Amino acid sequence: MDQPGDEQMNKQSVQQAMWRRCADFHGHVCGGLTIGYKAVLRVMELLELYFSPDEDVVCITENDACGVDAIQVLLGCSVGKGNLLFHITGKNAYSFYNRTTGQSVRLVLKPLPEGMTREQSFDYLTNAQPDALFDVKPATIPLPERARIFDSYPCDACGETAGANWIRIQDGRKLCLDCAVRYDRFRV
Ligand SMILES: [Zn+2]
Ligand SMILES: [Zn+2]
Repeated sequence: MDQPGDEQMNKQSVQQAMWRRCADFHGHVCGGLTIGYKAVLRVMELLELYFSPDEDVVCITENDACGVDAIQVLLGCSVGKGNLLFHITGKNAYSFYNRTTGQSVRLVLKPLPEGMTREQSFDYLTNAQPDALFDVKPATIPLPERARIFDSYPCDACGETAGANWIRIQDGRKLCLDCAVRYDRFRV
């Protein structure tokens, strides 16, 4: 028999389990992890996303901080699958894409109230509703193509094999990035 409030309690225990998975994966709890966790809760509502066993969910993160771990563990956006990409601006901002529906969104953390200690900001983030924490904006980066598979070639200098997209041609030889002499006249 359904009591009023059952659904709410169920949602709470699901979210507690999700938070525990974040903490286990990340190794500790912190404000940064909380930001990523809340971003996931928010985008799950907005784009009807769930854990992605393949590449259907894509995240482009604008930072490489603690919160990204929540996105990896809860949404299955990971470096290895190629559906976690980096566009580093140092902002607490994440773009999410749902390949199935074609929908996307960019979440940007709103400025936190000033003058809080670390503990206070952790409490603030923990208690805030996900929809109060983020500005919801359109994703500006087009949906990236699916991860590609490239041929691989042995490096003509060291003999080690690397994917074609990482090989450089120098003096007619195929070289890995470690053996190729870098040429970048925009980085002096
Ligand atoms: Zn952390
Ligand atoms: Zn080499």
